[in-house]
Amino acid sequence: MEAEAFLITSQANVRYLTGFSGSNGQLIVTADGGIFLTDGRYVEQSRHEVPDIRRSFYSGSFSPAFRTACQELGAGRVAFESGHLTYQAYLDLSGTGVSLVPASGEVERLRLVKDEEERKCLDAAQAIADEAFEAITALLAEGMTERQAALALDVELQRRDADGLSFDTILAFGENAAEPHHRPTDRPLRRGDLVKMDFGCVVKGYHSDMTRTVALGEPPASMKDVYEVVRRAQEAGVQAVRPGVSGDEADRAARSVIEEAGFGEAFRHGLGHGVGLEIHEGPSLRRGGNDRLPEGTVVTVEPGVYLEGVGGVRIEDMVEVTALGPRVIPYVSKQLIVL
Ligand code: ZN
Ligand code: ZN
Repeated sequence: MEAEAFLITSQANVRYLTGFSGSNGQLIVTADGGIFLTDGRYVEQSRHEVPDIRRSFYSGSFSPAFRTACQELGAGRVAFESGHLTYQAYLDLSGTGVSLVPASGEVERLRLVKDEEERKCLDAAQAIADEAFEAITALLAEGMTERQAALALDVELQRRDADGLSFDTILAFGENAAEPHHRPTDRPLRRGDLVKMDFGCVVKGYHSDMTRTVALGEPPASMKDVYEVVRRAQEAGVQAVRPGVSGDEADRAARSVIEEAGFGEAFRHGLGHGVGLEIHEGPSLRRGGNDRLPEGTVVTVEPGVYLEGVGGVRIEDMVEVTALGPRVIPYVSKQLIVL
């Protein structure tokens, strides 16, 4: 038997469907209506953000409010997001007498294709990141630590009216860039180092995500070669993201360039991911990935080569998949910048 209602508990999915940007909100949708639930902290905010849906407020546990809302909606059988409910929450909701039906990926599927308003937010978030990148390249100097450089980059993002950072900025000098997700340390910048920066910011809930690798002074010839391999792989990956292509096919387009150059073992993650209300969302571009890229989705293309004890290079762009071909969203160059 079909469910009579659908309980949405993922905050990104609730935001997508209602516009609510707070930290606690649930939505119960039926064929002809629904109820949005949140707690007392968000009475005023939800009045502005969720004006068109019936609102209900609770304090303490969600399950009694859930039971009441289901009674009011006449829903005895309710689908829930199995990937977004803890086991304890599941037990609590089961105790209300409402029968629960697992569902997964329903709203995420809707989110794959970005509408014009969403695209504008992603473009705006990336435009800030582009400007911040140009600003940080002017600030990087010998002796500056990774922590100082990361903080300076964060300031450049925030001062341009970002709502927040997409994630903790990843910034690595020299040999530390061998870690794909390095956390900034007190390691000082030296001449000849490569600087790998992976960063982004949020505009109206939408995340930007980019990586650039630059050099302070002439880097070793071997690292220039690695850079060129990654740059060519990234370009091949960008050209591969077209409507109907699978995540595996896109990944292979970039990976084969790196493998042919002899660095296959040093590219230890997938090619990219969808980006939107969450920094990582569908579709997934990776080996064996079955997701097909729909027209209008936005994905990252971010191959890398990581050499233990030596260093690493990653180049990442957000790319919109269009019928006319890939639209690369950042405008800053991908040629190696030597500062
Ligand atoms: Zn990134
Ligand atoms: Zn990314």
